Amino acid sequence: MESITKLFKIDNGPSSSHTIGPKKAAKEFLEKYPNEYSYQCTLFGSLAATGKGHLTDAALINVFKDKRFEILWEPDVFLKFHPNAMKFESYDIDKNQTAEWIVYSVGGGKITDGQIIDEENHIYPDVKFSDIYDWTEEKGKTLWEYVVEYEGTQILDYLNEVWNAMQDSVKRGLKTEGTLPGGLSLFRRASSFYERSKRYSGSIRRRSMLFSYALAVGEENACGGKIVTAPTCGSAGVLPAVLYMLKFNLKYSDSRIIKALATAGLIGNIIKHNASISGAEVGCQGEIGAACSMAASAAAQIFGAIPYEIEYAAEMGLEHHLGLTCDPIGGLVQVPCIERNAFAAARALDAATFSILAGGKHIVPFDKIVKVMKYTGHDLPSIYKETGEGGLAKFIKIN
Ligand code: SF4
Repeated sequence: MESITKLFKIDNGPSSSHTIGPKKAAKEFLEKYPNEYSYQCTLFGSLAATGKGHLTDAALINVFKDKRFEILWEPDVFLKFHPNAMKFESYDIDKNQTAEWIVYSVGGGKITDGQIIDEENHIYPDVKFSDIYDWTEEKGKTLWEYVVEYEGTQILDYLNEVWNAMQDSVKRGLKTEGTLPGGLSLFRRASSFYERSKRYSGSIRRRSMLFSYALAVGEENACGGKIVTAPTCGSAGVLPAVLYMLKFNLKYSDSRIIKALATAGLIGNIIKHNASISGAEVGCQGEIGAACSMAASAAAQIFGAIPYEIEYAAEMGLEHHLGLTCDPIGGLVQVPCIERNAFAAARALDAATFSILAGGKHIVPFDKIVKVMKYTGHDLPSIYKETGEGGLAKFIKIN
């Protein structure tokens, strides 16, 4: 598995696979072929179907802003390797092609040409939770220590940066009002949720504030603001909301939260490596489901859970999102995405509490639920995988 620095990326929303990945690919192509007469990018499959709502065109145009550049859209053409495909081409003045590159945006901002799996970047020897669990038993250590063992102590500095970026995104979102872009005329609700939550006390107040924190990040993301992919842009509000609530409402320390981020990254990495975190590949269970699983593991660890209990919390976070479709209205990362972050944050805390109450005793191993999610995702019809053709996207249209 790769470093968790590849999972937690600090970048601009609204979509890791539709903006961060294409932007990265465009930059690489332009760096390799900087002086051609003109450039073209063809977007295929899901990338083309929901690219306008996800601001893919804006991300590409921003990179090629000083060049002659054209985008072609092929939503009905799916290349074999992955539903999010792009073809970059360059031409000379006589319209002869000078270069061509087919590249895929496979989720969480990662791009690949579909050929080589770069083993050099794989720093962890284990890819299954069961093997990592055995390591913790053998060494008498816990999951975040496994991360430090293979990433080095500098990973904690990086996670500190990630945590600061997450907190900034919550704070910005809580104080910004107005309407989200894209034509749905949705107003930002985080700020009013936060103010209204002050009317309550105890667990209702905490739950209400948790919702406002998740909405804050989701709304920042929808506006193209800076967020952390956790594991994706569309699901970026779940983990920060849970951690922010634990810090500001329950007074857990930053150092405890940073160690929990290491464990959440490990859980996300296992899902990414063995299944997928791409809505276009497995539906929203791979985004919101993975985010809930990561947040559940982090919360459980913060509450003092041992690895066996953390496994159960993470397993439930994913299991109870199995089959979740990706059907954003108008191809915008807004409905159902933003609210879904709030509900998944609440579910993550419930999963952590549930696991600890059960003493971690469970029947479904985490590795198995990851496999089930992958197969469920592949069995889902493509209209439910970021194409904007099924579910909510089919029945509710932007006027
Ligand atoms: S429905 Fe889920 S997977 Fe689809 S864009 Fe929204 S958050 Fe991402």
